Amino acid sequence: MNSFFKFRRINTYLTYTFALLLLIACHKTEIIENMSSAINGLQQYDKLILQDSAGLNCGTIASEDFLTQRLGIETYKLSAITDKIFLVHFHIIRKSDGTGGLTTSQVDQVLSNLQIGMEQASICIVEKGRSFINNSTFFSGNPDTNFGSIVSTSRQTNAINIYLLPTGATAFGKADGIPSNALVLAGSYVLTPVVAHEFGHCVGLFHTHRGTARIEPGGGPAQCPELVNGSNSSTCGDYVTDTPADPEQWSFTCAYVGTGTDANGQAYSPLTDNVMSYVPPVCLLNFTPLQTARMHTAIDNSSILQNAMSRITGPDVVCTNGTYNISNLPSGATVTWSTNGYLNISGSATGTTVNVVKVADGAGSVSAQITTSCGTSSVVKDNIEVGSSIVLGIENMIDLQDSPSGDRFTVLAGIGNYKYTGVLTIENLSDVPTTYSWSKISGSTGAPIIGWSAQGRTVTVYSKGVNRYLRLRCTATTSCGSFSKDYWFYTGFAP
Ligand SMILES: [Zn+2]
Repeated sequence: MNSFFKFRRINTYLTYTFALLLLIACHKTEIIENMSSAINGLQQYDKLILQDSAGLNCGTIASEDFLTQRLGIETYKLSAITDKIFLVHFHIIRKSDGTGGLTTSQVDQVLSNLQIGMEQASICIVEKGRSFINNSTFFSGNPDTNFGSIVSTSRQTNAINIYLLPTGATAFGKADGIPSNALVLAGSYVLTPVVAHEFGHCVGLFHTHRGTARIEPGGGPAQCPELVNGSNSSTCGDYVTDTPADPEQWSFTCAYVGTGTDANGQAYSPLTDNVMSYVPPVCLLNFTPLQTARMHTAIDNSSILQNAMSRITGPDVVCTNGTYNISNLPSGATVTWSTNGYLNISGSATGTTVNVVKVADGAGSVSAQITTSCGTSSVVKDNIEVGSSIVLGIENMIDLQDSPSGDRFTVLAGIGNYKYTGVLTIENLSDVPTTYSWSKISGSTGAPIIGWSAQGRTVTVYSKGVNRYLRLRCTATTSCGSFSKDYWFYTGFAP
């Protein structure tokens, strides 16, 4: 975290604290309504619904929902956390005649709140653009009722879509799903860290009280109360093991006020500042390390989210040379490239495109230092296969005796229909994706017949008689080319 963000974070926190004191001090009806929603935290308004298969783009979303559930029982590793840049598009909802709606500085404040909230999670937020939706029904209506229509309007696939209703509307915050690329904010939540809470849903996080305070609608089939001792925290609650069991009972000043105990009789001790809890909005301040790891794991597994990011695009395999680009690069960003492993840069190391060349067969990675309005992020494309040398070795033999050369085999007498049957399985020792095909080059003719069959990299040679031979050719093919090698088989005698 750079000092600029530290300063902004502290500054924003002071602003919220001041606002809180103001709320306590005032007794006007309007303020009391706000107090009431603050006391209740987010519980009345935050609606989190997993997109089901009946939703938009059902094919993709359904499979990602499956993935999200699977992510729930995986262990998130801190190593999943790498710098990421997300682009956001603001949709400012106004009346049909074009009046009303948030001011420029208010939208700037939403952006700033989101940047501050996500920066601690190594996620840089950059504005891609902002535009207006002039629709009085959206502007004045119930945002929950209109939710599906709102998030279907002008929705972009290469950004996280943030729909902003006026600050005077009923407090409301909702993400379109886990994961998803759209969220709606309204009323007193608009200028608070609730934007980071909803963004947290978009990038894979559940509520900290999920399954413990109650079963949440649409929140997955395996909800169960988390125990205070954390023993079931990877399979219950929010699936994040460093967020303690949370019964969701908060005071207006963000203190935990519950007195209940879990199934073991232990008193709860939830986090009082977690972004994914229902503490009053002013206290939605921190993510835990493993919430961050879960976010990054979800992002790494979601094409919907990756489409909203600046990312390196280019080949997964470099045979001799390759070209990489940054897709969805924020305007005004600068890029400096570097390589690791068996790749070198050829030509310029700055700009939106870089050319790389193979140094030797192996693996490599390409990195881009992208500098935007929220600092410098190091975006990486790793696990690039460099070259693709084919070195064929023997993985397994059945009833075969190989010669020192490794390509000539005595087929031993075995059991079965044929007196001599040997099975050879080969592999590409380079451990890169390889396909195999076999053909007969030459062999004994006449009776007893020597025959063969092949499936992938396994070939079977058989004969009812001794002193027969067969020469087979295996052609191994990778994305960088092919290589052929001959194998000889002799029944009952050494070559
Ligand atoms: Zn929520």
